[in-house]
Amino acid sequence: MLAIGDELILGQKTDTNSAWISDALTARGVRVVEHATVADDTPRLVAAIERLGAAADVLVTTGGLGPTADDLTRAALGEAMGEGLVEDPAALEEIQSWFRGRGREMPATNSVQALRPVSARSLANPNGTAPGLASVIGEGGHACDVFCLPGPPHEMRPMFESFVIPAIRAQAGYAVVTRALHTFGLGESDVAARLGELMDRDRNPLVGTTASLGVVTCRIRYEGGAGTGAGALDGAEAAVREKLGDAVFAADGASDGALARAVIDKLRDRGEQLVVVESCTGGLLGETITRVAGSSDVLLGGWITYSNQMKSAAVGVKPETLDRVGAVSREVAVEMAEGGLAASSAAGGAKHALAITGIAGPGGGSDEKPAGTVWIARASAGAPTDVRCFRFRGGREAVRRWSVNAALGMLRLELDAVQTSLLGQIEPAVNPVI
Ligand code: AMP
Ligand code: MG
Repeated sequence: MLAIGDELILGQKTDTNSAWISDALTARGVRVVEHATVADDTPRLVAAIERLGAAADVLVTTGGLGPTADDLTRAALGEAMGEGLVEDPAALEEIQSWFRGRGREMPATNSVQALRPVSARSLANPNGTAPGLASVIGEGGHACDVFCLPGPPHEMRPMFESFVIPAIRAQAGYAVVTRALHTFGLGESDVAARLGELMDRDRNPLVGTTASLGVVTCRIRYEGGAGTGAGALDGAEAAVREKLGDAVFAADGASDGALARAVIDKLRDRGEQLVVVESCTGGLLGETITRVAGSSDVLLGGWITYSNQMKSAAVGVKPETLDRVGAVSREVAVEMAEGGLAASSAAGGAKHALAITGIAGPGGGSDEKPAGTVWIARASAGAPTDVRCFRFRGGREAVRRWSVNAALGMLRLELDAVQTSLLGQIEPAVNPVI
């Protein structure tokens, strides 16, 4: 996969095409081996096309097919193929009719978009003026199918479906199948230590990990004969689950939002509801929950009790408690959660309440309670309240996002009846680790 454009190299635009194309190819059993990105610069473009063309069976490029001086893909492909460019009459007619369809005359500059290397094929673009190109490059017996598609995603995607997908059908029988197991509570290196040789890079299925805000996801990937993929994945999943035990809270789907989705599903299954009481996260916990479609089944609502006065007025935190131990404390977290649970009775009554009070930073910290100190409490009707202190790093945004996941993680422990300490937890310090 080759993404082309100065805007990508300069970091002004994110390369979403490579991710989208790789996802589509992987789903169809194609092994994606490399993503490269190059500037709008002919020698670099030629070198990238030659190098990737020699290393792969299929090369998809996006970008650089516009009508201006920085659109160099046509010329670079011709140079890599050792061919000159010719005007494709059918492509020219399509560009002219695209303009006619909009009541305009084709500007002369757009005629360059009808150029193609002599032996290349022009690919019709129903959503724009830039035709794509298809060709074969290679020497010494290796042939690589090259598809050059325009940069704008809404033009690229239908052309990818029309031209690239049919061309890769030849690989039927080969499959790449994946599964994801999401964990919470352990650090990524703890997960890796437990998985041990399961993570060896020469295994199939291959197991890798990614970490995001405390959610460590094990990605299991099988490549090979289509018939045996599901069985191989099941076997690898069982082996991973055996090593990770209760740390696994959900399977498949994206890591982002996985905790919220899992908690919502578990609450819905049990017919239970939740309220939230937030201080330093300012509503981010509620936002994270309500981002999940169907969250109204389980979230009654909540309070953003940012000031001390609001903590007392909304959920009944005692002013004496605030005076005595401060807003960022075990006692206030407990009073927020238990007060929220009690206050929810006026709205039907929730089974669980989550409360967060902490110092997001960068200011507001002290030696005793540095920025990043966060107390989180979970109160549940008929169960003891769980309250823990965390120390998160990484600045205000990170502290707030980690806090949300830690709160959801604490509720998940209650719902799954798992007892363990969580990553970042400093109090209670001694707790069985998963
Ligand atoms: P181009 O074909 O180079 O004229 O691309 C035109 C536009 O497509 C750029 O301004 C970007 O907005 C978009 N674009 C190009 N490459 C990518 C990419 N890899 N991912 C997402 N958008 C892209
Ligand atoms: Mg460009």
